[in-house]
Amino acid sequence: MAEHEHVRVAVIGSGFGGLGAAVRLRRAGITDFVVLERRDSVGGTWRDNSYPGCACDVPSHLYSFSFAPNPDWPRNFSGQEHIRAYLERVADTFGLRPHIRFDSEVLQARWDAEELRWEVETRSGTLTADMLVSATGPLSDPMIPDIPGLDGFTGKVFHSAQWDHDYDLRGKRVAVIGTGASAIQIIPEIQPVVGKLTVFQRTPAWVMPRMDREISRFERRLHAAVPPTRALRRQLLWIIREFQVGAFTKHPAQLGLVEKLAKHHMTKVVKDPVLRAKLTPDYRIGCKRILLSNTYYPALVRPNVDVVASGLKEVRGNTLVAADGTEAEVDAVIFGTGFHVTDMPIAQRITGADGTTLAEAWKDGMEALRGSTAAGFPNFMTVIGPNTGLGNSSMILIIEAQLNYLVDYLRQLDTLTTAGAGRAALDARPEAVRAWNDRVQERMKRTVWTTGGCRSWYLDANGRNTTVWPGTTGEFRRVTRRVDLAEYRVLRVPDRTRRQAADTAGAAR
Ligand SMILES: Cc1cc2nc3c(=O)[nH]c(=O)nc-3n(C[C@H](O)[C@H](O)[C@H](O)COP(=O)(O)OP(=O)(O)OC[C@H]3O[C@@H](n4cnc5c(N)ncnc54)[C@H](O)[C@@H]3O)c2cc1C
Repeated sequence: MAEHEHVRVAVIGSGFGGLGAAVRLRRAGITDFVVLERRDSVGGTWRDNSYPGCACDVPSHLYSFSFAPNPDWPRNFSGQEHIRAYLERVADTFGLRPHIRFDSEVLQARWDAEELRWEVETRSGTLTADMLVSATGPLSDPMIPDIPGLDGFTGKVFHSAQWDHDYDLRGKRVAVIGTGASAIQIIPEIQPVVGKLTVFQRTPAWVMPRMDREISRFERRLHAAVPPTRALRRQLLWIIREFQVGAFTKHPAQLGLVEKLAKHHMTKVVKDPVLRAKLTPDYRIGCKRILLSNTYYPALVRPNVDVVASGLKEVRGNTLVAADGTEAEVDAVIFGTGFHVTDMPIAQRITGADGTTLAEAWKDGMEALRGSTAAGFPNFMTVIGPNTGLGNSSMILIIEAQLNYLVDYLRQLDTLTTAGAGRAALDARPEAVRAWNDRVQERMKRTVWTTGGCRSWYLDANGRNTTVWPGTTGEFRRVTRRVDLAEYRVLRVPDRTRRQAADTAGAAR
């Protein structure tokens, strides 16, 4: 193999996951690493999603790094531009820029079983790394369904994550496809501007009020001057969500009360019984992600809005045809149809020890050990891997827990290497992966995601929930605190200098 630049760790992606990894590596004294990013700036989700109304739906003081608190969050649920600016600041404050390689999409990464390292081919060149960390994000590759006739549509088409800010929506006949988290933020923003808005809704969402408000100047000053007040705020936001978890994972019947509140939230605004019927879900609240909005229902009752309670089936010329036969002629189609979650594109590009890609290894469903490592893919870790998603709290808590695991993994590798027998790598034992996933799936049986009577993006093509963590974030943190070597096979490559010494000694004999 040709000699390439070698680094200890190569991280793919510069969203919360990749930047967080970079900070934690530096703090652990590891500076020999790169962050490979396909685009030309950091931010991931928060760089790509710039649609009108884009904001987090977990309060900002919890939806941010514990090691980079921001006393200046402007709102409970801050907007995309503030979150993006925060991540840019993290990159500067923690001196991450020299490590980041922009325009370096990872095209292929192959495990070299002889040298025990990854060969990583990027758009800007090839390098090798002892450890490969994929932080490409669960929601970073937009998914547009294969709709017959869409190619022949002559109007404007774009996905919510690829908003075309040059396209003027004023007065246009616009269709929004989908009623998920992005769509319900977009709809109230564009409704007053467009001529006619047709919303194609396959499944209605449960929508709860959004407790949003400006964070006052006094609060911000207080948080800056007295950091414990900020920490307390975060702690409260966290603990409330930890207490909610049991209802999702063990006692879905308890969610009945929440369902009543959500119904009241809708019926207060939506008076038309036909529209109410369309907007009333027939599954338990929480089965799909609970959405938060105070402006969604008020937008839907406006005279220029039609809700088609059926998915988009085909496009004929400039007419959209729903599965129930409803037709709408439009000038623009905005897809709020989500992302490739259970079929992450990066999995096709990672090739493990026996020449199998991660996508092939996961063809019957994604699975990893502690949401992080996969058998046959030594020294490889996925941030926000299988069964690490959350229904109700901040993904940053999961990311930070996994980064503890990463740092401990590298520490274990160091210890094994200095123990003498040459450079080491760790490969998750298939039986450990099996046992972990059997436990996760056993717990999944009781959860609202399984019993709630819906089909959500949490489930893969086989109907298995490979995305959500069926426990609290505190528990996830505990189970990822340390790498348990009993769950791994230790692979070794003899030290090069020793090998050479042995060869020389052999030749001399
Ligand atoms: C609109 C929206 C709102 C959200 N709101 C919340 C919220 O309120 N609370 C919450 O907890 N979560 C929320 N999420 C989930 C969110 O995805 C995570 O919280 C978090 O941002 C994920 O960070 P990440 O770094 O793992 O992935 P991302 O932010 O998606 O970053 C992945 C990065 O990897 C890069 N990349 C991908 N493939 C390659 C490749 N082959 N080579 C090189 N680079 C590559 C991408 O360009 C991107 O920069 C939201 C998601 C969206 C889309």
